[in-house]
Amino acid sequence: MDSNYLPGKIGAALQGLSCGDVLGRSYEFLSRSEIREMFPEIIDWNGGTHNQPKGTYTDDTCLTLCLADSLCNGFNLEDIADKFVRWYFEGLWAADGKTVFDIGISTRKAIDRLRDGVSPLCSGDSDVYSNGNGSLMRILPLIFYTKDMEIGQRFELTKQVSGITHAHIRSVISCFYYLELARYLLSGICKFEAYRQTNLIVREYLQTINVEDKELKHFDILFSGNIAELPEELINSSGYVIDTLEASVYCLLTTQSFKEAALKAVRFGLDTDTTSAVTSGLTSLIYGLKGIPNEWLENLARREEIMTLANRLAESLRASTKN
Ligand SMILES: [Mg+2]
Repeated sequence: MDSNYLPGKIGAALQGLSCGDVLGRSYEFLSRSEIREMFPEIIDWNGGTHNQPKGTYTDDTCLTLCLADSLCNGFNLEDIADKFVRWYFEGLWAADGKTVFDIGISTRKAIDRLRDGVSPLCSGDSDVYSNGNGSLMRILPLIFYTKDMEIGQRFELTKQVSGITHAHIRSVISCFYYLELARYLLSGICKFEAYRQTNLIVREYLQTINVEDKELKHFDILFSGNIAELPEELINSSGYVIDTLEASVYCLLTTQSFKEAALKAVRFGLDTDTTSAVTSGLTSLIYGLKGIPNEWLENLARREEIMTLANRLAESLRASTKN
């Protein structure tokens, strides 16, 4: 892929995901019906859950920015993990540079193990009950690094980065599926074709590495190819990784703008910040920076630093492809 478009795409992705996270933060844990009754209109800040200042993003964005920051120096799993530890203990990339909140159970356990010297290849829980959306929510920057690699390498690096906190195959496949879809969106093809191609390539690849059918069944709704035709009631939005992945693809396919998709994700309720962040990461690749509402961008914490980080990552990737 041509890398000239990268600064714009990375800038849109990091800011888009962050804005989606900010939007959802105020509504986290409310059910769909509670949101419908209490908030007929979703606004970018209402105090609400976590009651942080306007423009404050959560763990989703912090860990996404930590990953992007690390990738500026190439791929180094130890360094990515180290930045996650520094986020938790020092507030690295926290919205105000110090306050850490909204951390998930698996992520916290993994970070404690990393602090105690466990390798990032072994730090993430790998049991079937550790399939929250904690690696999916922070995986997006990796595609900018892996997009031109062979599919086997793309899968392997995705597995390692997810595995720092979420090592079960379901979380790994969810991250892989999300990044393959992001990769097709980056190539500029229409979102419906991107979804179709993602289903083909992911299913085929997973069969070549002998992922069991009983595990693949968890992706049946996505693989059906017609998720966009389902009624909203069948789309869940808990902290379970499959729910978040399905909801993000659904919001991508059933809306016409960045804003509409983010609002729809929040209205689904429950894990609103992550559903909206994961959705917005995808839609930002289609609609770009211009598609993100100005009033959301203006209020985004650390916006200048996030833009600088995006440019730094783009420049680093461009330099590495020249070598
Ligand atoms: Mg969060």
